[in-house]
Amino acid sequence: MSALAEAVVDLGAIAGNVRTIASVVGTGLMAVVKADGFGHGAVPVARAALGAGAGWLGVTSAPEALALRAAGITAPTLSWLHRPDDDFGALIAAGVDIGVSTTTHLHAVVDAAYRLGLPAVVQLKADTGLSRNGAAGSDWPELVSWARKYEVEGGVRVRGVWSHLADADVPGSPRLAGQVAAFEEALRVARSAGLDPDLVHLANSAAALSAPRTRFDLCRIGLALYGVDPFGGTGPGEFGLRAAMTLRTTVVNVKRVPAGAGVSYGPEYVTAAPTTLALLPVGYADGVTRAAGGRAAVWLGGRRCPIVGRVAMDQCVADAGDLPVAIGDPVVVFGPGQGDGGQPTVAEWARWAGTNPHEILTGVGARVARDHLHEGTEMS
Ligand SMILES: *Cc1c(COP(=O)(O)O)cnc(C)c1O
Repeated sequence: MSALAEAVVDLGAIAGNVRTIASVVGTGLMAVVKADGFGHGAVPVARAALGAGAGWLGVTSAPEALALRAAGITAPTLSWLHRPDDDFGALIAAGVDIGVSTTTHLHAVVDAAYRLGLPAVVQLKADTGLSRNGAAGSDWPELVSWARKYEVEGGVRVRGVWSHLADADVPGSPRLAGQVAAFEEALRVARSAGLDPDLVHLANSAAALSAPRTRFDLCRIGLALYGVDPFGGTGPGEFGLRAAMTLRTTVVNVKRVPAGAGVSYGPEYVTAAPTTLALLPVGYADGVTRAAGGRAAVWLGGRRCPIVGRVAMDQCVADAGDLPVAIGDPVVVFGPGQGDGGQPTVAEWARWAGTNPHEILTGVGARVARDHLHEGTEMS
């Protein structure tokens, strides 16, 4: 049985992107493999990234971290978003670093450490202006002083201090300097409380590639790892990244229609002239997002064919004009093209849908088969 669509993931591209980014930033790299590796498959992406020299893995949640361990991956791993009643004992036992943003979480982590008889390794997160997770400046002194107290008692080891940036993908952002200054102040407060973190980190992909003063000891790389330019091609440089995912399918029905034919629900689209319509068995449940309808195109028959009519849950229709398309013809929804009128890219889909490339990648549905190229060869 074959799936109606597949996401072909080139692990060679992932490995190449790690090397490319490492050569630009010159620090250690954390491969961010949250949300199943942005939809690419967390375990194979993690292996490829580690094989190419990434030293760390980053995930959002405890189940994601434990899934990496269950797959036999022992590399240093940080998990950063937790409920206070999460199973911190499981993370400590698995040797996963725990991102801690509140004293509520710190006390719970230390309780788990004492129950287990093993110190927890934590990385304290400061809020430097994003106003999401991380301790606010007013709460930071209390968090670091509790952490130091527990460190002296043996309940925790504070390995890292870190934060996250709000708009590093905006070239010349005026907020960035303020966040860096707030981060340096948070570090000063942590050190004056007696902490001596080995690992200080702030940058995501965009910051790592464009703002040297955000690099510190380690850069946390998400989007760029998957080969997508965080600046959408309009930023400070050509980084030589290669998109790892190709979303592809095949034509499952073809029909010649006259002018005036209504296409899909509504119909919101009526043909203006006789044309050939190709039915594609991918819809919004597969990641072909409904919001891109009316703007998006796919690669079919050696050119771009627009998606016409409303995108449905399971299918959509491409207008092939007078191209001689046939049932079974291959279709690329997006891939590693350069956005130059060739195969559409994730960045273009994001623009068509009015969202970011992260949402397009993580929206590729569970029933789309993942096919990993170069699996196991990335170590060489
Ligand atoms: C998702 C995430 C990243 C990766 O961000 P990119 O912009 O995709 O590189 C880095 N750090 C944290 C805390 C994240 O949540």
